[in-house]
Amino acid sequence: MSSARGPKRILVVEDEENISQTLRYNLTREGYEVSQAATGTQALELARQRHPDLILLDLMLPEMSGLEVCRVLRAEMSTPILMLTAKASELDKVVGLQVGADDYVTKPFSLNELLARVAAMLRRAELTGGQQHRPGEVEDFGGFRLDRAARTVRVGTDDVHLSPKEFDLLSLLMANAGRVLSRSTIIHRVWGSKFFGDHKTVDVHIRWLREKFEHFDTLPFRITTVFGVGYRFDKLDAEIPVSILNETSTSA
Ligand code: CA
Repeated sequence: MSSARGPKRILVVEDEENISQTLRYNLTREGYEVSQAATGTQALELARQRHPDLILLDLMLPEMSGLEVCRVLRAEMSTPILMLTAKASELDKVVGLQVGADDYVTKPFSLNELLARVAAMLRRAELTGGQQHRPGEVEDFGGFRLDRAARTVRVGTDDVHLSPKEFDLLSLLMANAGRVLSRSTIIHRVWGSKFFGDHKTVDVHIRWLREKFEHFDTLPFRITTVFGVGYRFDKLDAEIPVSILNETSTSA
């Protein structure tokens, strides 16, 4: 299973300990490098940190449902997602595929079938890797381009170099364009649930992010501060002078 880049990494998201361990055991035996998450929040953190090659995602999770996890993952990365669904739930399958899962396996599943499905998905991802963009992977408008798979940002022909957190922050705001995100939501999504820092961290990163773009004469977006609420990414139809990039909105 090893490729030039080393063993393929698989993130197993499953709260049932025995199923998770069985999957880990068998996937490891196949030569994959396995990490495990028991909650959606943990899954998002691990996916962002470790950039797995494939995610095995159970739909029945505590706190945050597998569907919600899938939706968030898909907005941020193109990693193939194989859903584990309960036996009778046709609806879950349909919704799961709608929110961006690539395939599903029904519980109780045969291990051989699951391993074959995993191998096939990884092969497919390798073949199409880098050539095919999935929905939500690339934001491209008004001369601005953000590529979530390559983690690159360009304005016109200029590369904009962002720190990992600045990139995640911009990516999150863009994925929610037109909607105000609170500082707590941003902390939770970008820094994860184990972050107990001050909410000022968000303000500081927003400032750094704005500074990265302030030397451009025109930009097709702005990051608006909504007093007492949070931040909102606004796409602009016409390119605007950067002088109003840092404009503060007085209305929520
Ligand atoms: Ca479960």
